[in-house]
Amino acid sequence: NPAFDVNAVRRDFPILQERLSGQHGGKQLVWFDNAATTHKPQSVIDRISYFYAHENSNIHRAAHELAARATDAYEGARNKVARFIGAGSAEEIIFVRGTTEAINLIAKTWGVQNVGAGDEIVVSNLEHHANIVPWQQLAAQVGAKLRVIPVDDSGQILLDEARKIITDKVKIVAVTQVSNALGTVTPIKEIVAMAHSVGAKALVDGAQSVSHMRVNVQQLDADFFVFSGHKIFGPTGIGVVYGKRDILEHMPPWQGGGNMIADVTFERTIYQPPPNRFEAGTGNIADAVGLGAALDYVDRIGIENIGRYEHDLLEYATHGLKTIPGIRLIGTAADKASVASFVLKGYTTEEVGKALNREGIAVRTGHHCAQPILRRFGVETTVRPSLAFYNTCEEVDRMISVVYRLATANR
Ligand code: PMP
Repeated sequence: NPAFDVNAVRRDFPILQERLSGQHGGKQLVWFDNAATTHKPQSVIDRISYFYAHENSNIHRAAHELAARATDAYEGARNKVARFIGAGSAEEIIFVRGTTEAINLIAKTWGVQNVGAGDEIVVSNLEHHANIVPWQQLAAQVGAKLRVIPVDDSGQILLDEARKIITDKVKIVAVTQVSNALGTVTPIKEIVAMAHSVGAKALVDGAQSVSHMRVNVQQLDADFFVFSGHKIFGPTGIGVVYGKRDILEHMPPWQGGGNMIADVTFERTIYQPPPNRFEAGTGNIADAVGLGAALDYVDRIGIENIGRYEHDLLEYATHGLKTIPGIRLIGTAADKASVASFVLKGYTTEEVGKALNREGIAVRTGHHCAQPILRRFGVETTVRPSLAFYNTCEEVDRMISVVYRLATANR
């Protein structure tokens, strides 16, 4: 008995009415690739159109009415993001292209300033490549060492091991709140506290968590929290860095140019305070506004309602998948969100993905930009259905029957 009407919710997302052409024979789309990207409700699509039809202008720079409208819309979106994740103020919110750019910004500014030779950077075995590669690059640049918190056989972080690794050599601990490959919900609050107990900063990768659970950056006490708009029903090309105000104030800029300066002469430049210091050039104004509309939409449904519904749906899917002969679930932690990764005996993951696609069911197969965690389980790829609150038990049944048929086919 969900707190919202899933059929009404589905009508808010035009693409969910889509019927697929060609080999799919007019089958209705089943979207189980939400960990890669989510669909957009009509209210987000309309908000972006409205911006271009009625508000379009560059921001801050010109004293005319459209500039004021565009600035209000953009800064309004910043306020919505701040409220949505429980930030202390909108000045702690920096707009970037996405989670990848967010982590790169932090590694290339805070990182270069604060991590030196012999220091350590800690990530977990669960991380997306976006939360590995920038730290590897930083470590190579400054002569620091990258260390990795291991996971147990369910794909959950080993806190005892984390405690051993997070010593006073560590300058930053960068860990995901939800694994994109396995769905593991990590004990992120404990990890943040561990980082702080040795005087290190903590970065939380929220790319897979903000759309599934209530996030409050102040309760987490995260120093940095990053996420992508497109994974929370907003547009692509927009993402967020949250940083604690006193940290951002001491961080050097990354890119230089317009918008981020207070005054420029050929001898020197004085920078703006955060967040503008980190937003060089013309940003993605329309899509920031679209992200604000997406957060409004989520607020209307209620993120707690979304989390409860998805939890039940994931249990239903997991239970169904387990009945299939020859299936191996990858990632069986007690606390999971959205993702049910698996491999099927006798088939490549690509074959399973193609069979699902023939029935109009979209799942990702591959390494999910998280090769280290898949290798931890001895696989190179998985089939990864990932659920959102607009998915239904009927859709799960359709997926399971396709995989079941494959598993029991005589080949
Ligand atoms: N971190 C995690 C946990 C992710 O799932 C993703 C996207 N798959 C990213 C980082 C990178 O996000 P983006 O591609 O939007 O920059």
